[in-house]
Amino acid sequence: MKVIDHINNAKETLFSFEILPPLKGKSIQSIYNGIDPLMEFKPKFINVTYHREEYMYKERGQGLLEKVSIRKRPGTVGICAAIMNKYQVDAVPHLICGGFSKEETENALIDLQFLGIDNVLALRGDSIKTESNFRAHPEGHSYAVELVSQIVDMNKGNYSIEDIKLEPTDFCIGVAGYPEKHFEAMNLQTDLQYLKEKVGAGAEYIVTQMFFDNKKYFDFVEKCRQVGITVPIIPGLKPIKTMAHISFLPKFFHIDYPEELSAELLKCKTNADVERLGIEWGVHQSKELKKAGAPCIHYYTMSNSSSTEVIAREVF
Ligand code: FAD
Repeated sequence: MKVIDHINNAKETLFSFEILPPLKGKSIQSIYNGIDPLMEFKPKFINVTYHREEYMYKERGQGLLEKVSIRKRPGTVGICAAIMNKYQVDAVPHLICGGFSKEETENALIDLQFLGIDNVLALRGDSIKTESNFRAHPEGHSYAVELVSQIVDMNKGNYSIEDIKLEPTDFCIGVAGYPEKHFEAMNLQTDLQYLKEKVGAGAEYIVTQMFFDNKKYFDFVEKCRQVGITVPIIPGLKPIKTMAHISFLPKFFHIDYPEELSAELLKCKTNADVERLGIEWGVHQSKELKKAGAPCIHYYTMSNSSSTEVIAREVF
């Protein structure tokens, strides 16, 4: 079933979450271990991130450089199929522009349709460690809006093959939005205009980047409505869990902690302190968002679901 239909049919705020594929060489059991405790809260959909291969060049003597893979999380499509099969819950694969030609994207979408997957989250993707800025594949897309258009074209039966009548796909497309603006955007206003373009191209809902200050989400929704973006905007929440998260999350995701939270984080001495605070804060954010009528609350579990489980028990 499509995410947009889940949202439109819902009488109250839905629960959903995101997982990461395991690192190459790890079994899918780690994924099930993260999903199992959250099933009692009846997630309507589970997102599975997509990760581009990261690589570096190692010196192999005599000036020879060898390309060596340093991190791989393959398996997004397989994990989505396994989730749908095991849990009968809709899986939402993330699809990125980076690293893919349009034809490869088309073939990936055909696979997804064969597997009975109705949803995709269309993203540009970030630069990999060997690039200073995002670089599009020479035959691929530079921005998420172009990927949305390609999927919409396939939904109309237009593939790269010309002059043949083809069966249309039927994907529901979600896109990313940034309450604290995307880090490359000149300002929030230009970012909102590009977000509006993604919706105009055919995206049916938006999932936000994590935020820790609900006011930023409420302001963002208001600004979206002012510029004419009318689709549902799903807030994304990340329970802070470790001392390392304190600096990592703002640095990596370009977000701020509100003062009230940063003051409490400064008092934390151990991971357990941070985890307790992360749960408390997550419960506070979730209850307020639910009360305000958010269509769904989407948790970034990063495949470690223990904090999300405690929060969900309090909220859903
Ligand atoms: P875009 O919408 O293309 O925007 C990128 C930047 O370009 C923005 O600054 C925007 O303002 C600007 N822009 C947009 N359109 C245009 C245009 N036509 N002309 C000029 N400028 C334009 N990354 C992954 O690699 N894998 C994942 O699984 C993944 N999942 C994510 C899930 C969510 C909910 C979110 C919020 C992010 C996720 N990301 C993921 C990260 C995402 O790929 C990065 O934030 C990336 O830098 C931007 O992606 P986007 O789809 O928002 O890009």
